[in-house]
Amino acid sequence: MRVLVATDRSNGVEPGDYTHCVEGELVYMQEPCASDLKNPDGPCGCGRGFAGMSSHRATTTALVTDSDLGREEIREALRSSLEAGGWLDPTICTADLAEAMVEESLHDVFRVAEHFPAGSVVRRRLSQYFVGSTPR
Ligand SMILES: [Zn+2]
Repeated sequence: MRVLVATDRSNGVEPGDYTHCVEGELVYMQEPCASDLKNPDGPCGCGRGFAGMSSHRATTTALVTDSDLGREEIREALRSSLEAGGWLDPTICTADLAEAMVEESLHDVFRVAEHFPAGSVVRRRLSQYFVGSTPR
């Protein structure tokens, strides 16, 4: 499957770039917070970031990669990450909601990863994804 992984490639060329992930780890996109919904170039940065499934850290650059991992392996990596992050806690989230959250996040990753050729470094502004400089 084509996936998104954290990369330092070209990270730092855009204002507001940051890279705290482990190079090559699977990443996904989280819902931006209220602050970033108003200004994804603001100090939080979640609206321009990709979340590392293993490190639980984030980066502004993701590499599109053809992976040997299958859909179910990637799904399990994402589900485990969300669970470890407390997002699927059964005291705040029903099993159906947890399932929907995993599927939606997985769908978003595949939608973006399939849109760009392997080797592309993708950036993000909220739900906009692009290669190259930030559209201003
Ligand atoms: Zn935020």
